[in-house]
Amino acid sequence: MRILSSGAAPPGPGRRFGADDHMGSRAASDGIATPASGGETIVEAIRSKLKTVAVEPGLHLVATPIGNLADITLRALATLARADAIACEDTRVTGKLRSAFGLTAKLIPYHDHNAARAGPEIIGRLKDGQIVALVSDAGTPLISDPGYRLVGAAIAAGIDVVSVPGPSAALAALVASGLPTDRFLFAGFLPARRAARRAALAELAFVPATLIFYESPNRLAASLADLAEMLGGRPAAVARELTKLHEEVRRAPLPMLAAAYGAEATPKGEIVIVAGPPAAAPEAGDDAVDRLLRAALKKTGVRDAAAGVAAATGRARRDVYARALALKAEAADGDG
Ligand code: SAM
Repeated sequence: MRILSSGAAPPGPGRRFGADDHMGSRAASDGIATPASGGETIVEAIRSKLKTVAVEPGLHLVATPIGNLADITLRALATLARADAIACEDTRVTGKLRSAFGLTAKLIPYHDHNAARAGPEIIGRLKDGQIVALVSDAGTPLISDPGYRLVGAAIAAGIDVVSVPGPSAALAALVASGLPTDRFLFAGFLPARRAARRAALAELAFVPATLIFYESPNRLAASLADLAEMLGGRPAAVARELTKLHEEVRRAPLPMLAAAYGAEATPKGEIVIVAGPPAAAPEAGDDAVDRLLRAALKKTGVRDAAAGVAAATGRARRDVYARALALKAEAADGDG
């Protein structure tokens, strides 16, 4: 089964600029290098705009493309061009971005494995008045990527922290999903292990918001199966290879997506799953209350677990508290 966006033609090669397409000969005929009616060309306007971007000393959190290099912002380019150093996850990945745009700033690795050493070194540079840009391999740094601790350390040291916004797969997928955008919850990557994944989904089941998950192709089918089971038949979308040549957004209810990806070969590329909010504030059944309580009791005490589940389900707090006590006692008996 192949589910495609309703009313949309299947995306095919050539529909988009690929990640390594640059504005070349095609640009001249597109009115980019030649002005439509006298005046400044787009290229000239870009050049003058780039010159006006002020980049002060401090830590600059710079979003970079999630596939299509043309998505880089002018401010990102100006910041990266003027930075004394670019802190990046992988110098090979950011090296490609650097050469694509003729940047020369020194690259310094900053990732989960060297943060304890590299963090203080970066803070030292910032205290010396340098401009340091933090980027991740793709998209917005800190969003399922390193940087959170570095930002905390910079703020604590009184250093200016500046956001240079741009692409992020989460928002790109949300807006293309066709699902409600007024309230959404970004849940990052779901746990790889099934039990932990289902516990995480139990917590999210009653959140009245569109849910956004990052997922790897290898786990997509299994995660969709759990999503369908724990969240029910709500509308959803799988966004793959956004902004790239083989970009695809499939929109269908979760069980249909689960069945489709369960029957197909493992897809290639990068993936975001978006699931719509619960249809209406549902009256949670006893099973759902138990499931949520069990998940919550693994992380917190009876009082907080009951309060959270009562709020999420709309059930009476007193009843939920009594049930939480019973489940806690059952679990203790089971352990003994
Ligand atoms: N910081 C990044 C951002 O702002 O989007 C996300 C980094 S996270 C380590 C990488 C995950 O983002 C991928 O596994 C995938 O779930 C999602 N992702 C990144 N690029 C994508 C793309 N072009 N299309 C779909 N999903 C993408």
